[in-house]
Amino acid sequence: MRKMRKYKGGQLDCVICNCCGKKLVVKDGILREGAVSFEHCWDYFSEKDGEIHRFDLCEECYDAVISQFAIPAEVEENTELL
Ligand SMILES: [Zn+2]
Repeated sequence: MRKMRKYKGGQLDCVICNCCGKKLVVKDGILREGAVSFEHCWDYFSEKDGEIHRFDLCEECYDAVISQFAIPAEVEENTELL
């Protein structure tokens, strides 16, 4: 499996969107582009028991994915944002 998040000296160095393969902008160890990081540990009730799935999506791919939803994703204003 190819790692979509690469680290250099403990600092985030590279993030690639799993969907389109686009390299996202990382500067000084911080992702400078809209992206979503997904990590899910499947449990006993799934057919993937014990597997951890991880992927990153750029904002465009995220928008494309959620536009397929029958019921839109919940969107809430983040009031803790500085
Ligand atoms: Zn993408």
